[in-house]
Amino acid sequence: YQGKRGTANVVVYAGGETGHPHQWLVVQAELRHALERDELVLFYQPKIAVASGEISGVEALVRWQHPHRGLLPPGEFLPAAEHSGLIVPLTEWVLRRALADQTTWTEQGHDWPLSVNVSARNLEVPDFPRYVRDVLAATGAAPHRLTLEVTETALASDKGTVARTLTELGELGVGISVDDFGTGYTSLSHLRGLPITEIKIDRAFVADVARDPQSQAIVRSVIELAHGLGSRATAEGVETVEVSEWLAAAGCDEAQGYLFGRPAPWPQIAGAPLSEGAGR
Ligand code: C2E
Ligand code: MG
Ligand code: MG
Ligand code: MG
Repeated sequence: YQGKRGTANVVVYAGGETGHPHQWLVVQAELRHALERDELVLFYQPKIAVASGEISGVEALVRWQHPHRGLLPPGEFLPAAEHSGLIVPLTEWVLRRALADQTTWTEQGHDWPLSVNVSARNLEVPDFPRYVRDVLAATGAAPHRLTLEVTETALASDKGTVARTLTELGELGVGISVDDFGTGYTSLSHLRGLPITEIKIDRAFVADVARDPQSQAIVRSVIELAHGLGSRATAEGVETVEVSEWLAAAGCDEAQGYLFGRPAPWPQIAGAPLSEGAGR
């Protein structure tokens, strides 16, 4: 799939925001059924501690096993889900399923923290922290082993509610990650006062950081910003050894990308030694 957030695909399938409205309705109706019929599946992508090379966590990434269209990446249906508000129950489904999976892999001896992506729409629901607390309690999962990834743009939407929700989530002990950092419209003042535990540097800057001095300056600054805020710096989209080595030298804490492993159904991650995913 191409496109950082897969938006290019949406134009083809869903017609895009400006495309045929009935196409959106089709996706929305199908998605509603997909949730009821359990057609969504979770893939997991490892996160690597740069210093040790060990798995430091896993990120849940949703896919849709569509009855006719095959396995769809999130870029093909999340925009329609956002548009219709279905993203709220969808994220709740992802949280429940991912925390249940985490329980299973913990029983198998993998002590991996879990990251789940949440939408701005979830953060605008005042009950969301209580929902998270209830799911944690129901699965017996430890709050500090869950991180919620919020895009930088989501932080800027409806300041009051979002900030309050994030504060309450932080008080639960859940980690808060700022996803795709550097590409949104956030001014740095949006970060102030929030319980941020991780900043994920967007792969647009990471891709050519081994060669491009401007990308290097940006990535170095974001690492310093993360550390200054008391957070971890994580690089996304690491595809080459050169980039990985540059990040290690620059003091980046964690890295994620095809070099270390593609998103996969979790038994595959659990069974495969890291080197098998490397270089693909
Ligand atoms: P994200 O959270 O920034 O996730 C990273 C995306 O980059 C994933 O795409 C992943 O497959 C891809 N990726 C990882 N490593 C590499 C690499 O080395 N090179 C390249 N070119 N790409 C890499 P994916 O799975 O298609 O997800 C796209 C976006 O959809 C995610 O971006 C996230 O914003 C959203 N998303 C995925 N699952 C969920 C979910 O359960 N809930 C919500 N609200 N959003 C989700
Ligand atoms: Mg993410
Ligand atoms: Mg990201
Ligand atoms: Mg990204």
